[in-house]
Amino acid sequence: MAKQQTLHCSFCGRSRDEVKILIAGQEGHICENCVEHAQEIIGQELMIYPDAKQGGAANKLTVKKPIEIKKFLDEYVIGQDDAKKILAVAVYNHYKRLNQKVENDVEIEKSNIIMVGKSGTGKTLLAKSIARMLNVPFAIVDATVFTEAGYVGEDVESMLSRLLQACNYDVAAAEKGIVFIDEIDKVARKSDNPSITRDVSGEGVQQGLLKLLEGTEVLVPPQGGRKHPEQKLVKVNTQNILFICGGAFDGVDRIIARRVNTHAIGFSVNKELQEFQQKNLLQFINAVDLKTFGLIPELLGRLPVITYLNPLDAPTLRNILTEPKNALIKQFTRLFEIEGIALSFEPAVFDFMVEKALEYKLGARGLRSISESILTDAMYELPSQKVKTFEVTLEYAQRKFNTSKMSMLKVA
Ligand code: ADP
Repeated sequence: MAKQQTLHCSFCGRSRDEVKILIAGQEGHICENCVEHAQEIIGQELMIYPDAKQGGAANKLTVKKPIEIKKFLDEYVIGQDDAKKILAVAVYNHYKRLNQKVENDVEIEKSNIIMVGKSGTGKTLLAKSIARMLNVPFAIVDATVFTEAGYVGEDVESMLSRLLQACNYDVAAAEKGIVFIDEIDKVARKSDNPSITRDVSGEGVQQGLLKLLEGTEVLVPPQGGRKHPEQKLVKVNTQNILFICGGAFDGVDRIIARRVNTHAIGFSVNKELQEFQQKNLLQFINAVDLKTFGLIPELLGRLPVITYLNPLDAPTLRNILTEPKNALIKQFTRLFEIEGIALSFEPAVFDFMVEKALEYKLGARGLRSISESILTDAMYELPSQKVKTFEVTLEYAQRKFNTSKMSMLKVA
């Protein structure tokens, strides 16, 4: 009697015994795991290229138009209109480039982006929101952990490990993802003269980033860290990965001031004008200023889109508290609602929170800790009581804040 042949999944090779379902096709089989995986890939493709459903138009660009991208960002990020506009166009062009036919003679370069703005002004939030809109894998990495190959620290390639981890090691998805490199200003060259001694933390890292940003095939250690010999490396092509860099670039305003011929420091006859210019100097930023700051020209060449973020003033902070789709106050209200309690605030409480965030120089990040310090007692006690409503009055907010640990942290 002929020996019965064991059936296998034609995609992953698992045998009949290793899977729950094996669907037969004309010349092969597919298991339930591969069906699920294929479904995920289709979902992602259709999300980025919804026209793919219509057969012939599969390669046509259908990413949201720049105006729609900005509208989407408006739901999550307050203000920063210039940055939003520039990001919207850059992202739109990036995915337009991705869909471009290969035989086209005009090669569109990648539109990697650099965002300059004080810490806590929304750089990461902008990049995150873009990734959320596109539904592509997104990774945040810190430039300061990288060092030149061969030194202690992580190789720059390991940033792609994070991207792979973010999409469950789906290489095809990672290759269309977005990487946000934070604190890029911290790898700036310390002086304008390239030194003959090795600059481990700065220029070496910038050099390492060049190929990655431009587009190349990289062998990535899937678990991150150093390339351990026992780790099987995964090949990732960075050609279509969008890199967004962010940094505070402390002191760059003085460089801009020097260039645009105004005086950032010193006494001026017209104080108002001086203040206005100082506040808005970042809007004039260009590649030359970033080069003077210490980024190497080759790196700047691969980051063609430059934009800036405004410092957050009181009205902006006030809006951040209540306006975005997942605004802090909306989140707390929801938490209480789940408990069956209708939470409300005296409007003056919001102004108090903003005032404290500015006073303690905490920016938007501080709003969360301030809200927590005001609401923690209520969140602790109310679930055990039969209350249906709870109003945070100004008096209550002040009392809770003034007795919190946070109130002791005031900076001079
Ligand atoms: P950065 O990357 O510039 O240091 P983040 O994007 O991480 O700052 O912002 C820190 C937090 O502050 C965010 O989680 C967000 O809640 C809030 N935030 C900052 N700027 C804005 C803004 N313009 N609109 C809404 N929320 C903001």
